[in-house]
Amino acid sequence: MKYISTRNASHAVSGVEAILTGISPDGGLFVPESFPQVSLEKIKEMEEMTYAERAAYVMGLYLDEFSEEELLAIANRAYDRFDDEDACPLTKVDDGLFVLELWHGPTFAFKDVALTVLPQLISSCREKKGEKMKTLVLVATSGDTGKAALEGFKDVAGTEIMVFYPDEGVSDMQKLQMITTGGENTYVAGIRGNFDDAQTAVKTIFTDPAVAEELKEKGYVMSSANSINWGRLLPQITYYFSAYADMLSSGEIKEGEKVNFCVPTGNFGDILAGYYAFKMGLPVQKLLCASNINNVLTDFFNSGEYDASRDFHKTISPSMDILISSNLERLVFEMVDRDGDKVKELMSELKETGKYEIPLSVIRRSFGVFSAGFADEEETMESMYNTFDEYGYVIDPHTAVGLSVYDNYLMITGDQTPVVILSTASPYKFAQDVYEAVGESRVEDPFKAVKKLHSLTGMEIPNGISALETAEPRFTDVLKKSEIKQKVMERVEKA
Ligand SMILES: *Cc1c(COP(=O)(O)O)cnc(C)c1O
Repeated sequence: MKYISTRNASHAVSGVEAILTGISPDGGLFVPESFPQVSLEKIKEMEEMTYAERAAYVMGLYLDEFSEEELLAIANRAYDRFDDEDACPLTKVDDGLFVLELWHGPTFAFKDVALTVLPQLISSCREKKGEKMKTLVLVATSGDTGKAALEGFKDVAGTEIMVFYPDEGVSDMQKLQMITTGGENTYVAGIRGNFDDAQTAVKTIFTDPAVAEELKEKGYVMSSANSINWGRLLPQITYYFSAYADMLSSGEIKEGEKVNFCVPTGNFGDILAGYYAFKMGLPVQKLLCASNINNVLTDFFNSGEYDASRDFHKTISPSMDILISSNLERLVFEMVDRDGDKVKELMSELKETGKYEIPLSVIRRSFGVFSAGFADEEETMESMYNTFDEYGYVIDPHTAVGLSVYDNYLMITGDQTPVVILSTASPYKFAQDVYEAVGESRVEDPFKAVKKLHSLTGMEIPNGISALETAEPRFTDVLKKSEIKQKVMERVEKA
């Protein structure tokens, strides 16, 4: 399988190259040349497989430079680190309503599903290519990617990792998780600004030939752990198939029956993986794109206009506080029939004017699998309360955005298709807000909130959360955007 750039469809590279570089030199993102098909029989076979086996199978369809055994070893090492035997268990909450728990990994958010795999893929790609240079991984995070990437790359030979998060845009727990990380090859800093500022700054460094040249002299090549990297997106395709196989095996659906997936969305990576699963033959009726009040994607799907020039809101679902959804570029590439020049044009329009447009007729006609909605802060709180009240089931604010959008969708359409809500984080990562929603009052101290939430719900507290209470912060830098590049250079100087 070759990978082509969304901004130049004639630039094709191998999977190894796509994963090692993260982003195409022309600023585009790598997408597979075609989508391998998975038959219904094969999906049925997955019923008997472990999660790691399912993952190795799906990844094998795209990475022909890797042997089956190699991918299985990678997947086993990754998913052995999860605290649930199934890695990504599916919980039935009500008739026709399922929650796919994607937060059983080492850092308690769905980013672990891919970031326990990506560092291994990068190491292996380095070997396959005979790469002598060290790999410098730069990460912009809205909160969860940072910690998951740090845990994944910590002390991995031949790599350095630098993480930049919006100083005032992450939860207390997310920040503590990041700044207390160990490891010799790790660096973390806050950025004055929001996630979009951090992501844009990092992307600019990535595509600056002068930076690449300077790094090369110091013996480094850059890569990305953000979902712009194909190696990040690929492992996420698996859980859509996995959820479907689990529904088949429990007799909830019949072979070939369509299901809906509802996905709390920020950078459009998670839901894009669902779209790719659909393109590969998974029986999907609807992919519901759920946003918080940073609802630029809702407007896009409902009007055709992507307009990022609007007020940015800080919300209780901070990992979705994003106005420039990087991965939408991959969907837009499909929307313009894989015309790289057109994508390039639209993306420079976005850069210059903050907006671009896709004819609504195209979205309605060929991309009707998507439906989009958003939940405001009050609806998100209500959704956490109602879900606990009705089902005794606790969800985090991101998952609550998803459930709220689904409830609305159901009310408007009456669509009785079974639905899988993707649950993207453990409630304990956002304990103050979750406790405020389901408990008696707000508790400001995050660890007191954790304990109260536990007493109220009985839900087990992950060790990694309790341990943060006494962990020492190691990283205290807060940088201006303009200082990031300098820090990167200093770091490779020192390392
Ligand atoms: C990253 C994240 C999201 C959004 O996922 P995207 O792939 O960026 O759309 C949603 N919820 C949580 C908890 C996250 O960490």
